[in-house]
Amino acid sequence: MPEIAYLECSRCRARIPAESPQTVCPQCAEPPAGSLYVRYDLDHLKGIAARDAIAEGAASTWEGMWRYRSVLPNAVPVTLGEGWTPMLKSRRYPAVRVKEEGANPTGTFKARGLSMAVTMARHYGLKKLAVPSAGNAAGALAAYAAAAGIEAHIFMPRDVPFANYVEAMAYGAHVTLVDGLISDCARMVAERKQEEGWFDISTLKEPFRVEGKKTMGYELVEQLGWEYPDAVFYPTGGGVGLIGMWKAFEELEQLGWVKPGKRPRMIAVQAAGCAPVVRAFEAGANASQMWRDASTFAAGLRVPKPYGDAIMLDILRASNGVALAVSDEEILASILDWARNEGIFLSPEGASVTAAYDKLLACGWLTASDRVVLFNTGAGLKYTDVTAQAMKLRRPQTDQ
Ligand SMILES: [Zn+2]
Repeated sequence: MPEIAYLECSRCRARIPAESPQTVCPQCAEPPAGSLYVRYDLDHLKGIAARDAIAEGAASTWEGMWRYRSVLPNAVPVTLGEGWTPMLKSRRYPAVRVKEEGANPTGTFKARGLSMAVTMARHYGLKKLAVPSAGNAAGALAAYAAAAGIEAHIFMPRDVPFANYVEAMAYGAHVTLVDGLISDCARMVAERKQEEGWFDISTLKEPFRVEGKKTMGYELVEQLGWEYPDAVFYPTGGGVGLIGMWKAFEELEQLGWVKPGKRPRMIAVQAAGCAPVVRAFEAGANASQMWRDASTFAAGLRVPKPYGDAIMLDILRASNGVALAVSDEEILASILDWARNEGIFLSPEGASVTAAYDKLLACGWLTASDRVVLFNTGAGLKYTDVTAQAMKLRRPQTDQ
């Protein structure tokens, strides 16, 4: 595992030492302060980190996302078996693969970022972590904090999918349910963290959740034979995965593990009831505006103003990608379509992506032969209450 060379600001490019825990860039002249990226000496790593040793290492000791330990920070992992999730072939679309992130511990992709972030929190000796969450990050932080013996303080909307509340309580986290959205939760964490001694582990406000999520980029490329697909569809709330995968592609090229050239077109999918990135993309803007009255049963997409919006918009444009929104009706129809025709129970966020694929195919933006990866970021089973409500299903009453 390599030492971190430095942390680099995504905005002003300042280099910050990684010896002590960091949040956002301390040197940015004006807000919002830039998120920090973990940087290594990749020229040095290129000589010693062999792509072909990854499969060997994974066969012996380093399982899951830790197969990429040669490009992750040097620390003892807090692991529950995250990563190396299935890349499923669609039964109907020969060029389509579904990256099944529902197979992660706590049933979602959030496990990767929080495994890495809690690993580094323990490495730095932090004792109390706090997070505002749309639901699944809360569950994942609660699990990894429990595994690491660290306190988790969680703030999430009162109407999160019930599974998120139950798991956080079961893991022993300190849970506050908030009458509002993730943006209201973030404000509460910001107001109290200093007094309470909490380290804020919010999306893109510390460097390591991106570092964990980048393994999705390494993985999808390795699972496709170390080649890029033509397009990657990603449901976009906070957007850490999109940003992490793009970082992975940069590193893969610098390491010589893939041929530099045509990176995949990145496609950000949001819900019509909360689509700040889509609106900014369509307006040609460099940042998003706070979305008013955000509403969708795809709980993970209820992020009215993502902190990483500017980085995401850059990536979408650099990759010749697009941002688009789908309605809750289209999401529900796609959940049922994939459940009934493919045997895959998508999360509402995952189904936003499959619905978006149908749309881009129908309008000719993509062709059926384009090789695409669709991210199902969570297991449909974590959403039984909200999906049942969308389906107008009730628990059948007994006769007694
Ligand atoms: Zn900066």
